[in-house]
Amino acid sequence: MNKTIIVSNRLPLQIEIDGENINAIPSVGGLATGLKSVHKEGNGIWIGWSGLVKEEVPKNLNSKIQKAIKKEKCVGVQLDQKEVDRFYYGFSNRALWPLFHYFIDYTEFRKKTWKSYIQVNQKFANEIIKNADEGDEVWVHDYQLLLVPSMVKKKRPDLSIGFFLHIPFPSYEIFRTFPVRKEILEGLMGADLIGFHTYDYERHFLSSIKRILNLDVQFNEIRFGDRLIKVDSFPMGIDYDKFESSAKLHHDGNKTNKSEIQKRLDQHLSTPGTKMILSIDRLDYTKGIPNRIRAFEYFLKKYPQYQEKVRLIMLAVPSRSKVPQYQKLKKETDELVGRINGEFSTVSWTPIWYFYRSMPFENLIDLYTSSDIALITPVRDGMNLVAKEYVATRINEDGVLLLSEMTGASKELDEALQINPFSLEDIAKNIHLALSMKKKEQKRRMKVLRKRVKRYTVEKWAQDFMNSFQHGRKQLSERINAELINEDTLIKFKSICSDTSKKKVFFLDYDGTLVGFKNNPEDAKPDQQLLHLIEQLAKMRNTEVVIISGRDKKTLNAWLGHLPVSLVSDHGVFYRPKEEKWEIMEVLKTEWMQNVLPVLEKFVDRTPGSLVEPKKYSLAWHYRKVDAELAQKRLIEIKTVLNSFISNTDLTMLDGNKVIEIKSSKVSKGRASSQIQNQFNFDEIFCFGDDWTDEFMFEDLPEKTNSVKVGLQKTKAKYYVHSPEEVRRILKYLIS
Ligand code: UDP
Repeated sequence: MNKTIIVSNRLPLQIEIDGENINAIPSVGGLATGLKSVHKEGNGIWIGWSGLVKEEVPKNLNSKIQKAIKKEKCVGVQLDQKEVDRFYYGFSNRALWPLFHYFIDYTEFRKKTWKSYIQVNQKFANEIIKNADEGDEVWVHDYQLLLVPSMVKKKRPDLSIGFFLHIPFPSYEIFRTFPVRKEILEGLMGADLIGFHTYDYERHFLSSIKRILNLDVQFNEIRFGDRLIKVDSFPMGIDYDKFESSAKLHHDGNKTNKSEIQKRLDQHLSTPGTKMILSIDRLDYTKGIPNRIRAFEYFLKKYPQYQEKVRLIMLAVPSRSKVPQYQKLKKETDELVGRINGEFSTVSWTPIWYFYRSMPFENLIDLYTSSDIALITPVRDGMNLVAKEYVATRINEDGVLLLSEMTGASKELDEALQINPFSLEDIAKNIHLALSMKKKEQKRRMKVLRKRVKRYTVEKWAQDFMNSFQHGRKQLSERINAELINEDTLIKFKSICSDTSKKKVFFLDYDGTLVGFKNNPEDAKPDQQLLHLIEQLAKMRNTEVVIISGRDKKTLNAWLGHLPVSLVSDHGVFYRPKEEKWEIMEVLKTEWMQNVLPVLEKFVDRTPGSLVEPKKYSLAWHYRKVDAELAQKRLIEIKTVLNSFISNTDLTMLDGNKVIEIKSSKVSKGRASSQIQNQFNFDEIFCFGDDWTDEFMFEDLPEKTNSVKVGLQKTKAKYYVHSPEEVRRILKYLIS
């Protein structure tokens, strides 16, 4: 059985050295929780850095440490101080982090740190290669390891590689400024699936891929040599149950056993009319902390009625304090808090309570559950989990979430009060709005938010990524099963056609198979050359030609009706045998449903704005409110997914106006072509098609069929060619 190898800069554990004793203490972070089923409960291993530099580890303890790491199903990549300074603090955090968060001015590119980044990425890649068995899955995480996918793929093409970026991907206009932009993108091209939190990051990434690497991108697939790389968005969630149950416990808990923090919070809240606003983040310039403080100051001035009533509790967790910009930010924050507290404080009230430290989980719950408002103001944030954690702890469905529209989370959390973190006016106005919001409205919003956060948890996120990954793998192997038509195949086809004693049939799809796609469907009218070709083919001895299309009867009649061929229209609803009249082919039959609903719901989860409408005999997926570009992409996906479904269950899909409707029916090209085959019992069958509707023919026609797919997508066909021009060339050769 193949295993999954998870790779991240840091291992999900902490090493404690106590004399000769070594303890590897597992961390309980979100990522570790999400990946538990793949890692701890599955047969996976985790590769990463333990957090200890070589210099810190006494030589005699090294093997003990490695053993302790191994016991946690992990493999350590050893880094020395210089590597950590250059690869981690230098390149990752002083170049990539600011660049990807739109802080161009903070982006420092240095050759020395870039070299170290390459070298450390290679170290990680080597460790993966060493630990991977044939056909394993590798899931690489985040911006510290952007080059790893290609480094691994180069040596081990047998491994499937997934990559997830936990921070934003910037717009092309930002990314293009980076000296090694090309190398970074090429580094990622070793992956088979690349995931982002939001569709915007995905779109920015694809835009850079198209413009910088000049690669062919179709919807969410990049063609890279003979490989297809899938790109998709998977918004990361939290361990909802953990936060919700802790909040419940906190709520029902022993009132005498309160934490010091909780006692102080209660003290403040004991005065009627007092409110608390909470913010929690790492002290990072991306989090919009100075602006938040200034906005709070502006709010107190603009709405003086809240003075002595409202308090901002700001928890800032120390972070990357070796990097100068972080030191500067710390100073600025301290000064701002000092100035405002100095200006507004009274004997009984300080406007800002500021904690510069991290807090244990229980205290976070105290803060979340006691605060009327969460004020989250990053100027850029890949996701922002604090927003989701606040929502999960609001067990009484009250409280208001104020959320910056520059966070990934804002895409999902529509019912939050969304703010522009650059506008003090907007923040102040929304704080006021939140403070005066009626309980009923709070509940209405919080209910929806909670439902969303509860449904798409970190486990679901990991599961979704893995499913998509494995599905892609399956698709690829199915595609590879088809064989490119070569000289030998052509000779074989020709000899079949030359045998006049055998009854032969050609099932030919029209659009995309005999003619290329046109912007305007009417422009796909057959040219003289094609008409001649079909006619010649149909005139071969003992040979029938069936044009089988999704087009309607009228069009087929007008374009091809005069030819000595049979016609099947509307994917198999109507049939016109050669030189006869049109007839109905299929009496519709209905059964099914509960199996399709979860598939559609999954799309709703990942496609904000879409909804499922269950009808009596059908299911409709509406996407009118979905972002136009995303809708286009999801449409293709949903069709592909449902298509594989249909091949087993006799369903059909109608493409309506901003709606996809799935009906139970027995109409398909596969069924139509099989019926014709059963009626005439041809000895030799050729079948050419290009899209998913043709897959039914490839699947339903007898095994002996020479099935040919036009294009490189997943197929059940035996052979494939690249274009309609090649199809025409083959047919021409056969009649020559
Ligand atoms: N957090 C923590 N200890 C603290 C404060 C915060 O463990 O004292 C956690 C918080 O619960 C959240 C995470 O840190 O899960 C911050 O994640 P987020 O996505 O909001 O920001 P990031 O730090 O990843 O940029």
